[in-house]
Parts: sequence; structure tokens; C-alpha cells
Amino acid sequence: MSQIRCLPSRLAALYAAVSLALVSTGAAADAAPFASGPPPDVYNNFGFPLGFDVSKMDLSADPRQDFRRYAAGKWLDKATLPADLGNLDSIGLVNKQVDRQLATLLPEAAAASPGAKKGTPLQQVGDLYAAGMDVERLKALGAKPLQPEWDRIAKIDGPKALAEELARLALLTNRPVFVDVSVMLDLKDPTKYVVAAGDPDLALPAREDYLAVDLAPVRAAYLKTVTDSLALAGVPAEQAQARAARALEIETRIAGKRLTEEQKRDFNATYQTRPYAEIKAALSPLDLDTYFQALGLPTGVDLLVTEADALKERGAVLAEYPLADIKDYLQWEVLRLMSPYLSPAFVEAQAPLTRALTGQAEMPKREKVVAGSVAHGVGHALGQLYVERYFSAQSRADAEAVLANVRAELRQRLEQNTWLSAPTKSYALEKFDKIKIVVGYPDKWIDYSPVDVRRDDYYGSITRLNEFSRRRMLSRLGTPSAPDRFADPDHTLPTIVNAGYSPDMNGIEIPAAILQPPFYDPKADAAVNYCTLGAVIGHELTHSLDSLGRLFDANGALRDWWTPADIAAFDERSKNLIAQADAYEVVPGVHLNGRLSSGENLADLGGVMLGYNALQTHLKANPDDDRKIDGFTPQQRCFLAWAQVWAEKSQPELLRTLAASDPHPPGSYRMVAPARNHPGFYEAFGIRLGDKMWIDPKDRVTMW
Ligand SMILES: [Zn+2]
Repeated sequence: MSQIRCLPSRLAALYAAVSLALVSTGAAADAAPFASGPPPDVYNNFGFPLGFDVSKMDLSADPRQDFRRYAAGKWLDKATLPADLGNLDSIGLVNKQVDRQLATLLPEAAAASPGAKKGTPLQQVGDLYAAGMDVERLKALGAKPLQPEWDRIAKIDGPKALAEELARLALLTNRPVFVDVSVMLDLKDPTKYVVAAGDPDLALPAREDYLAVDLAPVRAAYLKTVTDSLALAGVPAEQAQARAARALEIETRIAGKRLTEEQKRDFNATYQTRPYAEIKAALSPLDLDTYFQALGLPTGVDLLVTEADALKERGAVLAEYPLADIKDYLQWEVLRLMSPYLSPAFVEAQAPLTRALTGQAEMPKREKVVAGSVAHGVGHALGQLYVERYFSAQSRADAEAVLANVRAELRQRLEQNTWLSAPTKSYALEKFDKIKIVVGYPDKWIDYSPVDVRRDDYYGSITRLNEFSRRRMLSRLGTPSAPDRFADPDHTLPTIVNAGYSPDMNGIEIPAAILQPPFYDPKADAAVNYCTLGAVIGHELTHSLDSLGRLFDANGALRDWWTPADIAAFDERSKNLIAQADAYEVVPGVHLNGRLSSGENLADLGGVMLGYNALQTHLKANPDDDRKIDGFTPQQRCFLAWAQVWAEKSQPELLRTLAASDPHPPGSYRMVAPARNHPGFYEAFGIRLGDKMWIDPKDRVTMW
């Protein structure tokens, strides 16, 4: 599912880890499109331009009765969703646009890289892509590149050898294998790094995939994928089946001890420091000292532990199962994590599971899988080439200007706030002024030049890059805090269509990839850009002050700085918004969950309000821009542009599922709901008492 995700990236990695596992090793995490599924016009936006355009409107509709139809009725009529695609929205369409951009850039880089200087972004991106696309060589190699690792695992003969091999596998895969020891900023004191002992992602993305009765088909698909993959690697069929069953058994035990999604979000409860000796004892069949030493970490330090029960269960698994079973399991784990870099047959073996998890009929094309691997391996080198080609300094400067005005608007409103207590208001301003917003790409790129990336060695190049990235992360212990920007390969690379506020950094990252139509259009008028990009930035800014954002202070430390009276006033002001959402029928018989969606609805409300108000300031300073275009005033175009951004097509089944689990409301709601709380909307379209779009002024919500 693609959304404007407001996932705090590093928190997500630690607390809300969604397994990349089989579905997205290599490919982007959104529901990847099909090799030959939907007709081409789906991704050509049915003949409409990507950006704001009046041709998408249904001018025969009355904006006062049905604004959704008025703003995007022609698009909604023409856009048809193939049965096997769950959802199509602007983010999906821009994702396709980025796919097309990469489908041009990567082969060109591969053609040019043999002449490029060793270690440059062009050489590394081009050669890594060429290596991944060299299917004949990969087919000929089969599972051979993995054999040395399987042999090493087979030779494990005790706690010390187990620790040495697990540390080696963590470096080789740049993923935690069976145990997860990493170096991260201390959530309560982000000026320093600490050692954390987490629980590695399991193969299936959600805890429920292992436990829920109705998800048995997912588990059956997993068993098939494991069996087929092991068979491809040369394990006899019967043995492969038995090993698959054992892998599922082990993972189900661990899943049963993991935190639920709700528990994970309770940051205060999950922040726990445990003595090294306790964790060492819990994992005693593994020599933890050796493990730490192999990773260059000091033994004996206190550890940040979030999944203590799951970690103990892993210790129990190590103690209870014969070593031979553990070794079989580890061979599967390393095969699972490295299969995208072996023969394409290993990727194809994952099809049953991918289908069960996503409904995706076909696996993505090889080009897309390899593009995802390049992003994971040398994301910043790829980002540099992408930005050079597709994102101009002018775009960055223009976006920053919109951002500065939206930011100034919210600051002014905070100064005038009447319902926060004085100390909270004063700290809110302090925190607000410290928010770091970075647009497009980082000022400092990660330099992978020490790594030998070779055109004739896909697996080796990836493992060397993995080790480089892992050691880079581990070496941070004891150094001053210096988080990378735009560096999360799943959420924030410049090539990812996303925008997010990270409370633990008190920062907003807006990757270059989202700065294209319809989210930002260098050719569009101010009204359109303020109420698309400006509103997206406003949305993220308000997250710094909402029920999640307020748990973190101006420096990103986990510390609640609101008084109970402030929280009560906030909740009181949210009440009507929750009621509005509760009343909305997503599909017949299914209502939006007002409480679950209240954070996102508040952010949309703030976003539209800030975009609209900053536009008014802009128009005062630039009276030439205050004119009708295509027959619409800037104020009208503002609300129309916002609505068009959120027009989407979704399968009813998906809407039903998401209504229960996704804090983001569906596009059909986002298109209109925030506008209906803003007085400018009523003025722009002459909406009066008795009109369907009307909300009584006393029931409208303003938070900031
Ligand atoms: Zn959000």
C-alpha cells in the first residue's frame, strides 16, 4: 500500500519493523505492479496528465453538493482498476513515473560505467545494475555463490562457532540473522549512540501471518516457497519439506512472543535497558562475547532491548533444538536473504508467497527487482545520478520557498494559540524552530567508493556493500551523533516517493522523487503548488505536535512535554473530527474508524489550512498571481488541486481491510474532509446551509 507514510524511519526499523523478507527483497515495498497485468493506460493515467488539470473535473457536478465529483469526476469515471490491482492513487502513479525514470537511467549508466572511474557513482550504479541484469551468468552460477556460507554453517560445532558465523552472516547480508545487535541513537538521549539488541524480522511480515487462523493460506504459501527454494539449492525434496516445516515451527514460536503492533507504539513501555549479562544468559547456546567481538563491539555494555520475550524465546529455540536443525534453519535464512542475488529462479520461487501476501498476480520484471537491489546497495550513489537527471536546483529552491512560507504560517499561528498552557506553548515554539527540513537529497552523500563493485560479480559486490554498510553503522558507537539523511532504503532515499516526519530526529525529509506532479509541479501556478506540496509539508509539520510528536522533545529525545490539561484540550478539539470520520461510510456497511485515523485527519486538516493560508500570504506579496486561470480563482484551484491529488481507485475488499488497520483514511475521504472544516472552502464555492458539503461552523474543527 502506498500512502504518504509518516513513519519515523529509524523508529520504524526498531519498533515497528515490517519484514522486508521475501516480498520486497530488491523491489520497492509498495504493492509492486505486474510484469504484464494491467493495461498500459492504467499507468499512463488513462490519458490524463499527472499534474493538476481541469480536464479531470466534472463541471456538470455541483461543487456544493458533491465536491469530489466536481474536482475529479472525469478521472474517476475513466480510471478503471484491473481486478488484480488493489489500489491506484497518485503515489502509485508517481511510483510508476519513477520506475520509468529508473528504467531509462539505469541501462544508460550500465552502458557508460565501463568507461567511468572506479568508485564513482556512475561506475558503481552502472556496474551493479549490469551485474544484476547478467541473467545468463547468474543462471550458470545457480546457488554456487552461497555454497561457502552453507559449508561454514554446516561446520558449526558449538557456541563459539555459532557466534562467529552469525556475526559473519550479519555483515554479509547487512541484516540481522537470528540475533539483531545494532548501534543506534539513544531514544532518550539522541546525542549518543547505544547498542541495541532487537529481534530480527521474520520471513512473514506480520506477527498475525504466523498466528491468525484465517491466514493459513499465507503459511501454506510460505512452506511452498521454502521447499522450492531449498530444492533449487540442491536439497533433496523430502528433506526440503521437513526443513520448511521446521522453519515455520521455529518462527511461529518466536512470533508468538513478539509485541503486537499496538504494544510497539508504546515507546515508553518498550524502551528498556537490560544488563549485558542478562541477555548473554538468555542466549547462552550462543557465545555472545565472541559475537560482539566479531562485530567490533565492546562486551558488557548495557543493551537497549525492545523485544525481550522474543529474544528469550530465541535462546530457548537454540537450547531445545538439535544443532543440526539450527544449522538447517540458518542455511534457509541466508538463502532467503541472499536469493535476489542468485539465479532469477530463486526470485521466481517466491511467487506463491508474494501472491498470498499481496494478491500480486505476477512477479515484477527483472529490471525492477534489480533497480530495487541497486537502491538497497548503493542508494546514495543512485540518488546522486537521479537528482542530476531529474531534479533541478531550481526545483529544490522553489520547493524550499513554499516550505518556508508554510512554516512561517504555522509559527505565527502557534504564537497566537490560545488553548495550550503557557509553558507548553513556549516549548512548542522552541521545538518548532528546531525542526530540520531537508528537501530532495542530503547535503552529504554516503561515499561507497572503498567498496569494490564489479560488473562480473553480483553476489560478491552486494556482500561487500553489505559489509561496508553494516560496519559503518556499528562504528558509530562512541562517536558524536551524526544521522544520515535520506538514507533509509525503505522510506527516505531520494528515489522513494514519500515524505515523512521523524520525531526522533525532529526532522522532515522530502525525497526528490515526490517532488514531481501532482505533488509538485514547477510549471504550475502558486495555488496548485501551495495546496499540494505546501499542504503535504503542512501535514508533516503538524505531526511534530500531535499525539505521537509530543512524546519527543525538540532534540528528538523521548520525553513527553505536554501537561494533562494540554492533552485534554487537544482531545476536546479532536472530538468533532473523530465524529466526522466515524460517520463516513468507506464502503457500504463499513465506517471509517475516527479514533484510528484522527492523527492523519488532523494532519490533513492542518496541511490544507496551512497551504491555503500561506497561499493567501503569497498572493498579497505577488498580486500578479491573484488571477483566474482556466476560469478558476487561486482559492478555488487550491481546494481542487488538493482533491485531485487524493483521487484514487481501490478495491472494496482493500478499503474494508484498511478501514480497520490503516491510520490513513482512504483518498475519497481525504479529498474533501479537510476542506469542509476550512472557511475558505465555503467562500470559494459559495457553499451554504442546506448544501451537502456544509458543516455547521460550530462543528468545524481547527486545531492549530
Ligand atoms: Zn501523516
